[in-house]
Amino acid sequence: MIDIVGIIKTMCAMVLLGLIAYTQGRRISARIRKKTMRCATCGRTVFERPVKKEIDGKELVFCCEHCAMNYSLVHNKKT
Ligand SMILES: [Zn+2]
Repeated sequence: MIDIVGIIKTMCAMVLLGLIAYTQGRRISARIRKKTMRCATCGRTVFERPVKKEIDGKELVFCCEHCAMNYSLVHNKKT
């Protein structure tokens, strides 16, 4: 006789594992997207055409040229 309960248990475990992997993967990818698409000056989310500037060896992302200029001005004043 076939162990139906065993098969159901295995299937449930597999579905649950798949669901966990799916949600974890989505959460991680969303976090990465958020991190890379934030303006360093105003904190606004950059949706497209991010302005990238290398300041003191660090690559920073800005929403526009104005923010990039502002950041370098403030940075130069402080140091
Ligand atoms: Zn900005």
